[in-house]
Amino acid sequence: MEAEDLCCADGAKYQCLLFDMDDTLYPLSTGLNLACRKNIEDYMLHQLGIEESQVPRMCLELYREYGTTMAGLKDLGYEFDDDEFHAYVHGRLPYETLKPDPLLRNLLLSMPQRKIIFTNADKNHAARVLTKLGLEDCFEGVICFETLNSPTPVQGSPFDPANEVADDSDDSLMTGDSDARATMKTNTQNTLQKIICKPSLTAIQAAIRVADLDPAKTLFFDDSARNIATAKLAGLQTVIVGSSSLVPGADYALSSIHNIKDALPQIWDNGEEHYLEHFVQSTVETPVLA
Ligand SMILES: [Mg+2]
Repeated sequence: MEAEDLCCADGAKYQCLLFDMDDTLYPLSTGLNLACRKNIEDYMLHQLGIEESQVPRMCLELYREYGTTMAGLKDLGYEFDDDEFHAYVHGRLPYETLKPDPLLRNLLLSMPQRKIIFTNADKNHAARVLTKLGLEDCFEGVICFETLNSPTPVQGSPFDPANEVADDSDDSLMTGDSDARATMKTNTQNTLQKIICKPSLTAIQAAIRVADLDPAKTLFFDDSARNIATAKLAGLQTVIVGSSSLVPGADYALSSIHNIKDALPQIWDNGEEHYLEHFVQSTVETPVLA
């Protein structure tokens, strides 16, 4: 693709910018995070029948241990439908608190690198958030829950893991090793397979393979310190967002994603003027998702 050829020129400091979404592209103060936790607790109480007095502690502990409460519940043996869970916890979120962010949009469109979302959330939530923020066409694609876990991935996405399983000869997007393919293949065939999500190294390495990233030339943005720590182990360059001080494994700290140009001017350093023109004029729709 012409755009990729332009922005992946040899010697470029960064070839790809990999963004977490929730609480990274918008601030914690929107209240979405808190509402989401409340919905998860409601699901545990009303759908899974977990004792009310145990729910808050269990919700938090599973989140801390597994990366998402959902992954912890599955590992404990609770059986529920992934889509139903996501619809329950995300379907009732106050999305109206998210407003279009033209400042961030312009910043993203002016960056010459590939830009990809990497979220633990499901594809529907990712699509709604990006649309609400007015950023739906700012990314090459979205790596989400379904990308790494769905037995029936959405067709047509560049990050559809089914592509990787079905066609080993196509290395235009998938050049991962056989172990990665085996992991994903196994996962699509076994509904009891553990959930793959950040901050596990498996999830981050899978994202690297799925998007065909050079970790040393990829800058990863996330508001979670533990995701940053694992990303560093995977060889990514890292930015902790929502913090004014570094955390272990972080190369940079951004109190807000809006400060990105002041804190990381080198993102634009390897871009020639024609890169910027191309991306500002681009109206390519972000493939959503999985
Ligand atoms: Mg986050």
